Amino acid sequence: LIGVLGGTFDPIHNGHVQTAMELIEHLGLDALHLVPLNQPVHRDMPVASAADRLAMVERAASLHTNLVADDCEIARGGKSWMIDTLIDFRQRYPEASIALVLGQDAFAGLDHWGRVEQLTALAHVIVVDRPGTKMQWPKVLPASYEKSAEGLRRSAAGYVCRCALTPVDVSSTMIRACRRRGEPVESQVPLPVAEYIREHELYRRAANS
Ligand code: ATP
Repeated sequence: LIGVLGGTFDPIHNGHVQTAMELIEHLGLDALHLVPLNQPVHRDMPVASAADRLAMVERAASLHTNLVADDCEIARGGKSWMIDTLIDFRQRYPEASIALVLGQDAFAGLDHWGRVEQLTALAHVIVVDRPGTKMQWPKVLPASYEKSAEGLRRSAAGYVCRCALTPVDVSSTMIRACRRRGEPVESQVPLPVAEYIREHELYRRAANS
């Protein structure tokens, strides 16, 4: 079972890493791929460059053997459609069970994705709780898709599974705001990421936020 956690990762933080680690432990994921997007489809451009965001993801991924920093969206260039990424994963791992990991906020946003039927043909979806967000089932997905975590390995794609993990109330927005105020971010991101942010003076200028 391979997990795919896509995001802006501007920057990657403890919420992402804790989620990834717990999913590896609880669901016994063989690998969890962290996939920083190149250009977002549904939001403003990231503040940090793709190279910086990928470098931070690589540093975070070095903390656990089953975490993989995956540059497929950045290497592909252009706008980052998650469906294209899942097609890419399907080609790389034709037989594997593949699960797209989404926070509750991202899961509710599936209604705006388009091509959702393609999503369930390509992968399972794991929905993780996120502090400050409520579970909202997207209209485009039949509720009958819901299965327990054990069900995920029995097929390659097509199920939705909800996972209650340890809540970590951190967002990249909060971290960028801390940096603008000159406050430390060591408690919100893994140490090697905090070092990278400091070394490269990321997120410091208000005009650059
Ligand atoms: P921003 O504050 O810039 O919007 P973010 O903190 O939401 O960024 P993203 O890179 O956009 O981070 O998130 C990628 C994925 O990780 C999304 O599916 C999101 O729901 C999930 N996620 C982010 N933070 C958390 C968290 N603290 N707990 C659980 N899931 C999270």
